Amino acid sequence: MSSEQTFIAIKPDGVQRGLISPIISRFEKKGYKLVGIKLTNASEELLKEHYADLQTKPFFPGLVKYMLSGPVLAMVWEGKDVVKTGRVLLGATNPLAAVPGTIRGDFAIDVGRNVCHGSDSVESAKKEIGLWFGKDEIVSYTPTIFKWIYE
Ligand code: UDP
Ligand code: MG
Repeated sequence: MSSEQTFIAIKPDGVQRGLISPIISRFEKKGYKLVGIKLTNASEELLKEHYADLQTKPFFPGLVKYMLSGPVLAMVWEGKDVVKTGRVLLGATNPLAAVPGTIRGDFAIDVGRNVCHGSDSVESAKKEIGLWFGKDEIVSYTPTIFKWIYE
């Protein structure tokens, strides 16, 4: 068991395309624990901070516009090695390079419509969780099935 947490978001295209349940399902079936969730219209200010590392990239304005185009499903998932493994479940940033079986590999084509976000390090996960969630929005509990998931 581990209390490592990651920030996973279903982007506006994923929400509009009805992909909320299949994406959540993959994290649930893997054995990870959902500890925070909300459907939200992100502000431009929040998105610019969230993607601050990418602000000099040519695709940055389009990325912010895309993320503002509809509600985002923001989540926090917890478990052993969830930051790295969460990104494996999502697949490569460019969906055409993402292997089948991953979320982007199965559900997306264009990099600018890649349906989901996942933190790329424990450090950025902490920053992103703090940006998107208040402390009182993260829930603490122990699923009774954990003894069947962790040895
Ligand atoms: N993105 C884009 N064009 C690019 C690279 C990235 O539109 O050439 C978008 C894409 O939605 C990606 C996001 O910017 O998910 C953040 O880029 P990053 O390199 O952090 O990829 P991620 O961590 O999401 O896999
Ligand atoms: Mg990233």
